[in-house]
Amino acid sequence: MKKIGIMSAMVEEMNTLLEVLERDEVVTIGQREYHLGKLWDKDVVLVFSRWGKVAAASTTTTLITEFRVDEIIFTGVAGAVDSNVSIGDVIVAENLFQHDFDASPFLLKHVLPLILKKEIPSNPIVRNKLFNASSDFVNNQIKDVISKNYLEDYSISKPKVLIGNIASGDQFIKDDAKRNEIKSSLDNVLAVEMEGAAVAQICYEFDVPLGVIRTISDDANDNAIKDFPKFVYNVASQYSYQIIKNYLA
Ligand code: SAH
Repeated sequence: MKKIGIMSAMVEEMNTLLEVLERDEVVTIGQREYHLGKLWDKDVVLVFSRWGKVAAASTTTTLITEFRVDEIIFTGVAGAVDSNVSIGDVIVAENLFQHDFDASPFLLKHVLPLILKKEIPSNPIVRNKLFNASSDFVNNQIKDVISKNYLEDYSISKPKVLIGNIASGDQFIKDDAKRNEIKSSLDNVLAVEMEGAAVAQICYEFDVPLGVIRTISDDANDNAIKDFPKFVYNVASQYSYQIIKNYLA
């Protein structure tokens, strides 16, 4: 049977899945705990990616080389970069960029050495399945899973699921100037975060299908860190749990 690596950028997200993981066997490598078991009858390995591109790339490599996963799903939260994107929306990654990569004058800004491209795509089949799993959640299940109060706290009324590009870099983006710079320098970027493109690069190099979903937690501007931990615990973790359940079941 296919083995799926499920990587969470937030410990809280992984914890909701650990509660229902069957036959949880823990293997610790490089200060990361890999949880092997079954989720909704599928063989999975759950792990917290840790934060930033270096950490996430290393966790991805171990998932592939030690645990031989056949596919990786990566979940987390992200800042909105497009004015059409709001807190509570879900972005399913199409292409992933490293917004802080710059090897000029040898290569154009953002082009990755050896790969010779700016963007790494997610796997189209996984992407479409994640889009359906996410749409089912926001259209039919969200009100049963997240209390009305929490949804009102963050003004989440009609959350959208969008397929689009994600930019990753080793910075928490929290001001308009930086946000606008990222938006104007890369094509169709909807969200910014700190890991996705690193995971995508490793999956590309090892030829492992990847899907990435990010729940929008902030607007990547001055208000970016307001109630961040509360949002992750009460809202984003419930998104991830239910979307992963829809995906696997
Ligand atoms: N709370 C943590 C730090 C989290 S790092 C601590 O206590 O150390 C921030 C996480 O949120 C990363 O996984 C990153 O990918 C994501 N993220 C959310 N909004 C972001 C933004 N505006 N800019 C960059 N990353 C963001």
